[in-house]
Amino acid sequence: KIPNCSAGMWSQGLLKFRYKPYLLRQQAVHRMEIDGKSAGSLVEDAVVWANQHGLVVALKDSRFINPDFAVIHAPLSLMPVPYPRGRFELAQQVMPLFNGLVDAVAADEAYLEGTLGPAALYDTFTGRLLKTLQATRAARAALREAGREVVLGVHRSDYMLDEPSGKFLQVELNTIASSFGCLSALMTRLHLYMASRLPFLEPSRLPANPTLEHIPDAIAAAANAVGFREEGGVVVMVVQPGERNAYDQQWIQLGLWERHRLRTVRMTLGDIAATAKLDEAGGGTVTLQTGEPVCVFYFRAGYTPTDYPSEAEWAARKLIEQSNAAKCPTVAYQLAGTKKIQQDLARPGVLEKFIRDDRDAALLREFFAGLWSLDPKDVATDPGVAAAVADAISRPEAYVLKPQREGGGNNLYGEELRDTLKAGGERLSAYILMQRILPPANRSVLVRNGQWSESETLSELGIYGTFVRHGNNLLLNEQSGHLVRTKTSTSNEGGVAAGFAVLDSPYLL
Ligand code: ADP
Ligand code: MG
Ligand code: MG
Repeated sequence: KIPNCSAGMWSQGLLKFRYKPYLLRQQAVHRMEIDGKSAGSLVEDAVVWANQHGLVVALKDSRFINPDFAVIHAPLSLMPVPYPRGRFELAQQVMPLFNGLVDAVAADEAYLEGTLGPAALYDTFTGRLLKTLQATRAARAALREAGREVVLGVHRSDYMLDEPSGKFLQVELNTIASSFGCLSALMTRLHLYMASRLPFLEPSRLPANPTLEHIPDAIAAAANAVGFREEGGVVVMVVQPGERNAYDQQWIQLGLWERHRLRTVRMTLGDIAATAKLDEAGGGTVTLQTGEPVCVFYFRAGYTPTDYPSEAEWAARKLIEQSNAAKCPTVAYQLAGTKKIQQDLARPGVLEKFIRDDRDAALLREFFAGLWSLDPKDVATDPGVAAAVADAISRPEAYVLKPQREGGGNNLYGEELRDTLKAGGERLSAYILMQRILPPANRSVLVRNGQWSESETLSELGIYGTFVRHGNNLLLNEQSGHLVRTKTSTSNEGGVAAGFAVLDSPYLL
């Protein structure tokens, strides 16, 4: 049933609302259009609600004595964005399979080394992570043999609807510092509030978003497996200095305390290098200056080269990797989330080595976009790869060129993509080529810094997954909520923190 809210049905004069149905593979999806003139008072109420409920980011305004404590509402979309229910629910259902895939790939270190080796020759960051993997192998094997291996995954698999194919295609799978989970749960609540105000929005079309519970619960499950109940200890959240998105992180800390009486200590890699002690002889316990043992290292930093300004930060990463604490992520999990591994898994037969059930593997493949290696050896020997490279040079707008980086703003598009491919050479081993996904455009009211604008927009959906394993004992593997980020259709990248996108939520049709 297509809700038919034509102009004028909403007659109070606050908003005029129109749904424009269009067909996406037989499935009606609706576009909402807002008559901008009158949105102002709703925007004000949304911003006040956000401030009242902690849907906020740090303001970092140097005029405040302590800028960390000055906050402003997070960038947000006034209304939820229409999404096809079937695709959304399928993406939720496959999340445990993606969690399991990360775990299987991370366990095959020979595969990680073999696949990432060529990229690492031209990407020192990936190379350094591989070296850390090798340097900690003995310590990790000893922990595993002692029954003390505890694995914690907090992942986010990102998708965009591809209008030409009607498919829901995976953009990437994040295994480190998957952010905005908690603010996204608050975003769902904000849109529920909007639904209470606007009769044409049905609350039942806003799916439950349990990140505020699931993420702290997964971290606590890992802490308990490490020994928190018996020996106590703390969670260390590894953070970047001066983080603007600190309140999303603080929601996890609050959840850990209120739900589990687990305390969190925020430390940079530099702090850890300077103060944490690893007891190598005594089973790998890391203690802080206070004498407290660390049960879990949860990373919201460490995914980009600038997080390692000196050797001290790499030493901290190695210390963490050797410790008996659960790490979210381990170096192997981080490497399993690289773009190069994503591309390699899409090659015929590779995913199937890690996902043994044929039907499960086929289900995951449904989400794979076109992905190609740019290793000159592959370009020379695989006619499919050579054809994709030639096509990307002639039609760069149909592709994205990606280095082994996280955090947004690193991909190449258009002329830059073409020039880089044309220049060629071994250094392209550190990149992958990806089909450009073309999502349907919507119209959205975007609210930033208390000001709103109406734009044509594109949306990206993320599904969170949590995973906890103690040795061979799987403690937890589930879908744990979602995130929608909406950006103006003219911008290539979609980072909320980077200022391109706003938080949003799905309205299932
Ligand atoms: P990062 O790890 O830096 O977030 P992503 O692969 O998610 O890297 O790319 C960043 C952004 O670039 C995405 O959020 C999306 O907006 C855009 N993007 C990435 N891949 C594609 C693609 N294949 N098609 C269209 N847009 C893409
Ligand atoms: Mg990423
Ligand atoms: Mg991304």
